[in-house]
Amino acid sequence: MDAWKKLLAESYDEKNIEKALTKFHLSTKEIEEIKKVGAAYPLRVNPYYLGLIKKKGDAVWKQCIADEQELKDTEGLSDPLHEEEQSPVPGLIHRYPDRVLFLCSNQCSMYCRFCTRKRRVGHPDREISLSQIMKGIDYIKNHKEIRDVILSGGDPLMLSNDKLEFILKQIRAIKHVQIIRIGTRMPCALPQRITKKLCRMLAKYHPLYINTHFNHPQEITKESINACSMLADAGIALGNQSVLLKGVNDNPKIMKELVQKLLIMRIKPYYLYQADIVKGTRHFRTEISKGLEIIHSLQGFTSGMAVPHYVIDAPGGGGKIPLLPTYLIGEKKDRKSGKTTIVLKNYEGKTYEYPLP
Ligand SMILES: *Cc1c(COP(=O)(O)O)cnc(C)c1O
Ligand code: SF4
Repeated sequence: MDAWKKLLAESYDEKNIEKALTKFHLSTKEIEEIKKVGAAYPLRVNPYYLGLIKKKGDAVWKQCIADEQELKDTEGLSDPLHEEEQSPVPGLIHRYPDRVLFLCSNQCSMYCRFCTRKRRVGHPDREISLSQIMKGIDYIKNHKEIRDVILSGGDPLMLSNDKLEFILKQIRAIKHVQIIRIGTRMPCALPQRITKKLCRMLAKYHPLYINTHFNHPQEITKESINACSMLADAGIALGNQSVLLKGVNDNPKIMKELVQKLLIMRIKPYYLYQADIVKGTRHFRTEISKGLEIIHSLQGFTSGMAVPHYVIDAPGGGGKIPLLPTYLIGEKKDRKSGKTTIVLKNYEGKTYEYPLP
């Protein structure tokens, strides 16, 4: 059996989570709480990701161990981005003109407590069938405007190599599809999933992009570095999507360390998401000023390559909207010549003027 399959099979869930946490000496009440929340929202932690926890309540713990606050969220919505409404066939979200998000697995190697698809990911009644996948592929075939297909889920790398290849092959055979992207947390959450065999298979379907999901430098290990280097060596362009999470990475110093380390792994930090208004995740949401402060602390102070786009995925399905600190601070008009000069602030806060033509 592949190492990753063995690790996955040894994952903990709401029935046996106490075994995973013995070394943290939780009280019976704390264990009961975790189990209660795990019965409401899926709980899974594989032994690799569990092993990244250094102490109770740290950045890795918060991402994977259920918290009683999930049940106290009265604000959040089950589907704030209206993904279900924007799915012309189940599991295929067509929101933007030229690309689609294709959900092809309902499972992950761990369930992030802040997941935007908490409503469906990991729920046995939302399992994705082959017939649903075939309907999605037909939709893509019939819509010539789709030039970019993003496999998502759940985690598409929860599928076997054969099943994943079946999907990739069908999509690659569609003439108007130019690029394929895969969104997966495996390089971070279960890097053993990235094998030579998988890389050889993926490399047949170029141009292929993988966007992975690291949120904290504590998730960067020799295993995850090795996984990403195998993917990059297979010619796959790597990006990273982080979620801004209170108590996990809402800190300019942590984010700077993360994005710099990602670049060393040949991963371009792509998006930093403001946390969505998802039911059960309120305790993770930060102020917008925090995200802006992080971007401000990166832009100019470190490699431009390291700076992700900070975005809010608009509630109601409006798509990702970028937010930037203000660098354009005003404009001046010369009475005599009628010419305009704009006033800009640089990363250090010094002002500069740029005369418009
Ligand atoms: C994020 C997303 C995409 C991809 O957006 P990009 O900005 O091109 O990365 C496509 N469809 C949906 C529904 C999305 O949420
Ligand atoms: S890996 Fe992605 S889809 Fe899976 S639980 Fe985490 S955020 Fe949700």
